[in-house]
Amino acid sequence: MNTPLYQSNLKQFPLINRGKVRDLYAVDDEHLLIIASDRLSAFDVVLPQPIPSKGEILTRLSNFWFARTRHLIPNHLSTLNAEEILIDANDRQRLGERATVVRRLQPLPIEAIVRGYLIGSGWNDYRRTGRVCGISLPRGLLQAAQLPEPIYTPSTKAAAGSHDANVAFEYTANLIGNELATQIRDMSLAMYIEAAQYAYERGILIADTKFEFGVDNDGRLHLIDEVLTPDSSRFWPVDHYRPGSSPPSFDKQYVRDYLETLDWNKTAPGPTLPITVIAQTAARYAEAERRLTGRADALYCATNT
Ligand code: ATP
Ligand code: MG
Repeated sequence: MNTPLYQSNLKQFPLINRGKVRDLYAVDDEHLLIIASDRLSAFDVVLPQPIPSKGEILTRLSNFWFARTRHLIPNHLSTLNAEEILIDANDRQRLGERATVVRRLQPLPIEAIVRGYLIGSGWNDYRRTGRVCGISLPRGLLQAAQLPEPIYTPSTKAAAGSHDANVAFEYTANLIGNELATQIRDMSLAMYIEAAQYAYERGILIADTKFEFGVDNDGRLHLIDEVLTPDSSRFWPVDHYRPGSSPPSFDKQYVRDYLETLDWNKTAPGPTLPITVIAQTAARYAEAERRLTGRADALYCATNT
């Protein structure tokens, strides 16, 4: 395992953005170097400690899904190899498998969320209104129930420091045009359905997930950012799934649950996590990767705890 990486500081390329998790550098006019750090954000606050290996797991998993969704949609991965363009051997060593070179695309200001199960803000919405983001659902569904069919519930991408807001499909059509909005909705549902089937056979329920898209100069839609990772999705172990309660998970829900036990107002700075919570979180991310990709050196099964 590499040394944890909280923040990258490359000299070779200009830094253009530090997101909650990713550091973006400009390689040239057409390419970005994306570094997935080991930072973890919860409730949109970046916590002060790294989760060891998290950035590498997110990068490998995204690359895995980029390959598996290529028959549906092109993605931002470039043919340039990060290891080959990084001149400094220390940088290469520090970054490990956290770096990817991608095509610089125009990100669309929409989070394309697909939900297959009733949990999180969807469950809260349903309990209050019988609907999720304006979509009517059958009465009497339990927490974590599987929905009759997956639903598309987009949100806007909030500026740093604020939270994303759920919006109706029509809002996204006004924002980016009906054609692109429709393409994004249909593509998101198609990718979710295929991935959920694949993951189910490997012991993981994908409760929900979020995709991001960008367009190239010709307006062609591409999948960007990260795909079907424990940061962008809720992953539940199939064998612990019981409608009526929130299942244990392979994602950062475990950290959110811990944070809910604290007296913290969910604004920065975030609290420090006990070492056991960090280790358990790392183990959950590794277990998600092991189940989905079969990677053998992932750590032990987090559901034993
Ligand atoms: P945001 O709200 O902007 O997503 P974040 O904190 O989630 O913030 P990170 O995931 O840390 O962001 O950083 C990734 C950023 O890089 C996102 O803003 C994403 O839209 C952008 N991005 C990802 N892939 C590309 C690409 N191919 N071209 C341009 N921008 C990209
Ligand atoms: Mg992000």
